[in-house]
Amino acid sequence: MSTIAAISTPQALGGLAVIRISGQDAISIADKIFVGFTRVRPSDMAGHTCAYGKIVCGSQTLDDVVLTVFRAPKSYTGEDTVEISCHGGVYLAREILKLILDNGAAAASAGEFTKRAFINGKLSLTQAEAVMDIISAEGEASLKSARLAKEGQLYKRINDVCNSLVNVLGSLAAWCDYPDEDIPETDSESVASVLGTALSSLDKILTDYDKGRILRQGIDTAIIGKPNVGKSTLMNAILGYQRSIVTSTEGTTRDVIEESARVGDVVLKLSDTAGVRSSEDEVEQIGVDLARKKLTDAELVIAVFDGSRECDDNDREILKSLSDKRHIIIVNKSDLPQKLNLEYNNDDNILFVSAKSGFGLEKLTEKINKLFKLGGYSDGGEIYTNERQRSLVKKAREFISKALNSVGDGQTLDAVTIYIDEAANSLLELTGERATEAVVNDVFSRFCVGK
Ligand code: GDP
Repeated sequence: MSTIAAISTPQALGGLAVIRISGQDAISIADKIFVGFTRVRPSDMAGHTCAYGKIVCGSQTLDDVVLTVFRAPKSYTGEDTVEISCHGGVYLAREILKLILDNGAAAASAGEFTKRAFINGKLSLTQAEAVMDIISAEGEASLKSARLAKEGQLYKRINDVCNSLVNVLGSLAAWCDYPDEDIPETDSESVASVLGTALSSLDKILTDYDKGRILRQGIDTAIIGKPNVGKSTLMNAILGYQRSIVTSTEGTTRDVIEESARVGDVVLKLSDTAGVRSSEDEVEQIGVDLARKKLTDAELVIAVFDGSRECDDNDREILKSLSDKRHIIIVNKSDLPQKLNLEYNNDDNILFVSAKSGFGLEKLTEKINKLFKLGGYSDGGEIYTNERQRSLVKKAREFISKALNSVGDGQTLDAVTIYIDEAANSLLELTGERATEAVVNDVFSRFCVGK
């Protein structure tokens, strides 16, 4: 396999940048460009040691750096690896990378280091995917879950199910293939019991998926309400800074403004929509149409009402539109004398705030956690699968369920074998043990270069 190199830190200004080289020529390439201040050469260095020196290109010194050597198989990729920590600077790091490429390394493609780790048996496919999740984790819970997956928990759980299926397959095959031998007949009850356990194990993974998706991707949230009830002010309060124009003239929020804000452990993807009401003004009408669409698509609707004004037909219409949506009612302007009398009686979903001062907003986290059943996150046992993993778990689950039905219907265990085999195959694809090259490539193409 060729020797590859890339800048592994973000291409932005920073204190340090790290350039990574991996492959059989990694150390000899380092020999050509690195001069240690103690005269040490990378090829003389033991694995997991570092040296201070300079990167040179002919007679020119590019930078003073720290160079670390990892020797195969004790490295991230499982290959000889060199990491060069240089001063942070986009130009400088690129110059050093260019020098490494000129000396024989190939530019690494997205996720190639991790892909090599997978190919060299350092990581399972699910662990490799977890590396990606760790990089993109935005909150504590998603990071914790990604770490569990990285430590192999998802792999272990899937592997346990898979092994139990393979065991059943083994005993079924032995019994079918060697009828004359004295092999105890596998009875359908014990098969059903193994399948039942496998099924509930996969079900738990599927239940956790929804929660994981929310923690990872955030919640699409629409803020709705009549003009002037304080939607923009509320959005700004949640965001913690001025974003949409706050004004006391009606109907000025003409666009749908989108921002992301962290509330507790979830990210709300907020859209502040133009007032939901018909409008004569053409431009504003576009905003209103967008708002309706946002409302339909949203997973969470935050409906804002003005507590200092009496309830009118518009308010009632908005209340009505919420019935089949996960929603939170915000009664705003609680600093003013209250006149609003909403016909709404679910205390769990209602919050009295002053968006202007921020009063009451701290309870938003609690409401959201309750609504999305996030509060229970604490046993640390949840593992959040990604879309690829989920669809394979689902597929395996369907086959196991078919196998169970066949056992129940009294079909021959031979027929049951086919379903169990399919289920095991899906799980092996999930862990990467039987994944096609296309699947593996697809997984790694989502990575960034340098990882
Ligand atoms: P929107 O049209 O729903 O986006 O409403 P805005 O956020 O533009 O607010 C309309 C007006 O209400 C502005 O003058 C805000 O300063 C005012 N406002 C918003 N929230 C509060 C609040 O909590 N208390 C008081 N007293 N005024 C508020």
